[in-house]
Amino acid sequence: MGKSKVIMKTKDIFELNKRNFKAYLRKPLRPKSEKIVTNSIQWVGHATTIINMEGKIILTDPVTKHLGYMKRLVKPSVNLKNLKIDYILITHGHMDHLDYSVLAGLDKDATVISSKGVKKTLKIIGFKKINILSENEAYKDENIEIDAIRANHNGKRYYFFGYKDSNSYLIKGSKKSVLFAGDTAYTTVYKNIKADAAIMPVGCYKPDEFLKMHCSPEQAFKMFKMMKAKQMIPIHYKTYILAQDDDNETLKRLNTINDGSIKIVDVGQTIVF
Ligand SMILES: [Zn+2]
Ligand SMILES: [Zn+2]
Repeated sequence: MGKSKVIMKTKDIFELNKRNFKAYLRKPLRPKSEKIVTNSIQWVGHATTIINMEGKIILTDPVTKHLGYMKRLVKPSVNLKNLKIDYILITHGHMDHLDYSVLAGLDKDATVISSKGVKKTLKIIGFKKINILSENEAYKDENIEIDAIRANHNGKRYYFFGYKDSNSYLIKGSKKSVLFAGDTAYTTVYKNIKADAAIMPVGCYKPDEFLKMHCSPEQAFKMFKMMKAKQMIPIHYKTYILAQDDDNETLKRLNTINDGSIKIVDVGQTIVF
């Protein structure tokens, strides 16, 4: 078993490199960029979304560049440097969710809400309002409440150091609420959460070992169904090749399970909630 596992891993890495190399030969796609209106969500790409919550702008896990040799397949739908931002949410330290060079170019008046391990660097970059949340802690001001929920995901940025914490966030306005799951493997932690929309990750689930850290499209849907949420918006695919799953297959699987409550969007599309 040991040997076959090693061979499998080498084969996986080879496949991943091959698919990323092929991506180098293609130009990144230019997505549409629909208007962001009151109470809406735009998928900017991967785990980056712009949530308009009752007029306030919330940006999640802002990452817009290539990830080392992993090329971005589609350009971000919005130039985030020009965006007036009220809140930036960071779920965890992985490279596909936290890029300091991107954060450095963003609106420094924004309030940042993050899991542990980023405060010093964010201060150096120029952010003044930084709030670190652990599991079951909340940020509150006159506009909004943001609750941190523990995702089933080891968010360590580096192998030997960093924090394991990986947050999901429930964002509550006066009338509306949105769940942003970040990265998570299957968990029952979202049970009975009320939300007008649940933004769920659906990529990075192959080979099976990845299911310890991430969820399949079916598992994302099952978690969504446990909530009292009106619609599920699938993200965390179609932007980078980080694992062995194929985006067309993911899309097919989402279409198969969709009972009308999954709002399948492309990068750059806006969904009203
Ligand atoms: Zn992650
Ligand atoms: Zn991720």
